[in-house]
Amino acid sequence: MGPQFQTNLGNTMTEDIAKLYSPVIRDHANQPRNCRRLLSANFRASSKNPLCGDCITVFLRVEDGIVREVSFESFGCALCRASASLLSEAAQGLTWQGVCELGRAVEAMATQGRTSSLCQGELLALGGVHPFPARIPCVLLPWQTVLEAFDPKPSC
Ligand SMILES: [Zn+2]
Repeated sequence: MGPQFQTNLGNTMTEDIAKLYSPVIRDHANQPRNCRRLLSANFRASSKNPLCGDCITVFLRVEDGIVREVSFESFGCALCRASASLLSEAAQGLTWQGVCELGRAVEAMATQGRTSSLCQGELLALGGVHPFPARIPCVLLPWQTVLEAFDPKPSC
């Protein structure tokens, strides 16, 4: 690390970037979980983030109001891929309403740096994007896409 990083501002920025690309994010970006087309899906939606060029399709198999399986295909940046991978694990077993609430909690964490009891474990890594407003759409795209898949939303 060069002397140019010794100022307070430099240190803060270096720490922020380290939090943005934390081990959890790098792991999910490099080895995304549930990254495949789901042939048995009964809900699906696709979205784009024109700012970064991310494209994603989310597939869901919902039975009896419970999300049984989630998968995705994406052509996007590491943050979008990692966020989709985390979502695919976190949403399994939740109700429709539960996925909506979790999506709102992730959004509050990313945009306002506000954590909630809903965001636990590896999901907390998504909060690392908070100091980087330009990258927030990358993190939120998979969550917004899931909500679109459920459209028209029941009481959400
Ligand atoms: Zn992106």
